[in-house]
Amino acid sequence: MAVPLLDLRAQHASIRDETVAAVLRIVDAQTFILGDAVSDLEQAVAELSRTSHAIGCANGTDAILLAMRALDIGRGDEVITTPFTFFATAGTIHNVGATPVFVDIQPTSFNIAPDAAAAARTSRTRAVIPVDLFGQMAQVECVAVAMPGIPVIEDAAQSIGARRRIDGEWTMAGERATIGTFSFFPSKNLGGFGDGGMIVTQDDTIAERLRRLRVHGGAKQYFHDEVGYNSRLDALQAAVLSAKLPHLSAWSAKRRENAAYYDGAFVELARNGAITTPFVEPENESIFNQYTIRVREGRRNELQAYLKERGIGTSIYYPLPLHLQPCFSYLGYREGQMPESERASAEVLSLPIYPELTRSQLDEVIAGVHAFFAR
Ligand SMILES: *Cc1c(COP(=O)(O)O)cnc(C)c1O
Repeated sequence: MAVPLLDLRAQHASIRDETVAAVLRIVDAQTFILGDAVSDLEQAVAELSRTSHAIGCANGTDAILLAMRALDIGRGDEVITTPFTFFATAGTIHNVGATPVFVDIQPTSFNIAPDAAAAARTSRTRAVIPVDLFGQMAQVECVAVAMPGIPVIEDAAQSIGARRRIDGEWTMAGERATIGTFSFFPSKNLGGFGDGGMIVTQDDTIAERLRRLRVHGGAKQYFHDEVGYNSRLDALQAAVLSAKLPHLSAWSAKRRENAAYYDGAFVELARNGAITTPFVEPENESIFNQYTIRVREGRRNELQAYLKERGIGTSIYYPLPLHLQPCFSYLGYREGQMPESERASAEVLSLPIYPELTRSQLDEVIAGVHAFFAR
């Protein structure tokens, strides 16, 4: 039995009627850009994230870019983030004209180390971007405390719906940040039928600025206070996402259930050091956008090839940390400077975790991993 890394058709089959009906309503209304469908979704995401505002945009990359523009970040400015993330986190820093400053991750959660972020602060630091990697929130409140006066842009592209207990209270991904960003890329835990993104904030002024920036910088059509972008969320995507959103918490619960099943099955392999299963901080409730194990001693690629032969899909997020990417060679980083990010890149392997996985599919993955180490 083949087990793909992700099977979007399985999810679609379970909600086909409601999503297709939502698409048809937009097609019949012929209202494709922004409008009620988008504002309905914005309201629902603001409620979920417990923020005053949610602003739809074209994708999760633009969400980060617009966030920095709304904070007036540009040439001569530095923005701190980790090199162990999807490219967009740092690509957008470069694209607003600022300089990415990389700091290492915590080996347990793969998220930014708040003390490392604080140590990298200079007089030019204008923001810090903690990434909620693999579905688990970064220590956003610690980052904020460690870097007073520095805006926090929380890249929650992989983590909508994740929670963290801060001062004894559950807070949602994006809630505590100056600006939080989401992606609705189809493979994310809440995915559209194409590209889509969302920005959340508690700040009225930032929200107003973001609403302008996504439509070429003009509050009134054909009158421009500043140069913005064409970065709007399509009504079709918004309608699909609104149909899917009510299912998100059940999907997240199923992902956690699958993760717990893997954890239980891998106890022995983890105990003897063959693999490390994902660590979720006690303060966190992960939505397991990925279930990412570490494989020791250079056997990771071998395990991936072995599983592939058995029809089991896996992926390596991410094989080359960003400080070592050719496009960032101008920043002057060297191998060995971010040891935890580099080690993570050499060791990580993400297994299928999507909510629609059947028990026998999970068992197939588990059997594959066990068979590899039993050889
Ligand atoms: C997917 C992703 C993005 C970019 O989102 P898009 O919608 O694909 O532009 C940004 N940051 C992280 C961490 C992501 O995983």
